[in-house]
Amino acid sequence: MKSLVSALVACMICTIALLAQNAKPIDSAAVVRGVELTTMADGLWRHISYGLFNGEAVPSNGLIIEEPNGVTMIDTPWNDAQTDSLLIWCEKTLHKPLRRVIATHAHADRLGGIRTLLARKIDVLSTPLMAEQAVKRGFPAPSKPILPNDSTIQCGNFTLRVVFAGSGHTVENIVVWIAEQRLLVGGCLIKSSDTQGLGFIGDAVLNEWAQTVKTVQERFPMVRTVLPGHGEPGDKTLLSHTIELLGKRYRKP
Ligand SMILES: [Zn+2]
Repeated sequence: MKSLVSALVACMICTIALLAQNAKPIDSAAVVRGVELTTMADGLWRHISYGLFNGEAVPSNGLIIEEPNGVTMIDTPWNDAQTDSLLIWCEKTLHKPLRRVIATHAHADRLGGIRTLLARKIDVLSTPLMAEQAVKRGFPAPSKPILPNDSTIQCGNFTLRVVFAGSGHTVENIVVWIAEQRLLVGGCLIKSSDTQGLGFIGDAVLNEWAQTVKTVQERFPMVRTVLPGHGEPGDKTLLSHTIELLGKRYRKP
């Protein structure tokens, strides 16, 4: 009898473990020391890292883009150790070095791994405004603060358009449009559909944020997928959802 009970308990534990796995699909790229990877398209992965904010583990999104001779990353994980583990994953799994990183604004969930990148002499691209804000907030300056407000970078099969559409979550936040995928990397300018708050607004420009999202809507009406800074990707309704949240939070005087 005792062994039957033990077998049942073991079976339940297995089932729970499987259910937990099913609830959160993580594909072959697997979990790399505190960072999860999920495939978004051939040669395109979303990286998800967890950082502590107000005592809670907050997941944060970024992208890895494979090119013929290297890898480009949009936004670093929260810290150097997580960033280092992604560099190792690129080298060991893709057999290619990380060549450059584009951060969508200067906070730890986008730029927390910058010291690792600079130590490894990996280019960190930003606008001059972002470089200025990074230093003000205690980060080292990105190595290449050369991006104009609207620039196009070819990354293998992917054409990236890096756009500063105005202030919002921060004064300097940018978005990245990946034309072939009709994918908008919104960073923290855009909120996920299940988010009802604006997140950290200590550096936000609340009276300009909604207009900036409207500018993004107008610039990329053909968007198919939106990747917010935190939470699950969605369609273009994430943009209108963000504008609605801002309407609730902030009304123009
Ligand atoms: Zn932020």
